[in-house]
Amino acid sequence: MIRKATFLVSNTDPKKCPKPDRAEIAFIGRSNVGKSSLINMLTGVKELAKTSQKPGKTQLINHFTIDDRWYLVDLPGYGFAKVSKDKKVKWEKMISDYLTNRANLCGVIVLIDSRLEPQTIDLEFLNWCGEEGVPFAVAFTKADKQSKTQTEKNVRTFLNKLVEIFGETPDYFVTSAEKGQGKEELSGFLYELVSE
Ligand code: GDP
Repeated sequence: MIRKATFLVSNTDPKKCPKPDRAEIAFIGRSNVGKSSLINMLTGVKELAKTSQKPGKTQLINHFTIDDRWYLVDLPGYGFAKVSKDKKVKWEKMISDYLTNRANLCGVIVLIDSRLEPQTIDLEFLNWCGEEGVPFAVAFTKADKQSKTQTEKNVRTFLNKLVEIFGETPDYFVTSAEKGQGKEELSGFLYELVSE
C-alpha cells in the first residue's frame, strides 16, 4: 500500500519532466472516467489529483512522488467532446512523446468506465499502446455504479474485445474509488511493476 504521496511538478513538455532516476507509472483515460478519484483513493490523499478538470484547462503531465521511491504520473484525459482540432493534435503529440520516450516508464494504467459499452476511443488508444510497445494494464472504474453482475458483464465484453485485438487478456483490475474496491490489488500490482 502507498504510505506517502506528494505532488512534485506539472509539465507541458515531456522533455522537462523530472530526471528519470526512478521507476514511473502513468495513469490515463477519457476525461471523467474517474482518474483523479482513483489516484486519490490509491494514495489516500483526498485532493492529490484534481477531480473533473475542464476542457479549457491546460493539459499537463503531473508528477507525484510515491513513498520517496517512485513516480506516479497523472496524464491529461482524452476524449473531450468539444476540444479543438489544434488541442487534440497537441495532446496526441505530448502523450505519444511522453509514452514512447520516457526511459523510466514501467507501464501505463488505462482507465475504462465499467458502465459503458466498449468505446472506440479507448480501444484505439490501447491498440496504439500495443503497436508502440507501451506496456499497459487496464483499470475499470466506477464499479459501484451498477450491480456486480452488470459490472462483470461489461468487463467481460471489454476484455473480449482486447482478446480480439491482442490475442490475450491484459492485466486488469475492477475498481471503485467510492468504495475503495480494487485498492489492494492495484497497489500491489503497481509495487510489483516498480520493483521489476
Ligand atoms: P477524471 O476526469 O477522470 O479525473 O474523473 P473524476 O475523478 O473527476 O471523476 C468524474 C466524476 O465521476 C466525479 O463526479 C466523481 O465523483 C465520479 N466518480 C469517480 N470515480 C467514481 C467511483 O468509483 N464511483 C462513483 N460512484 N463515482 C465516481
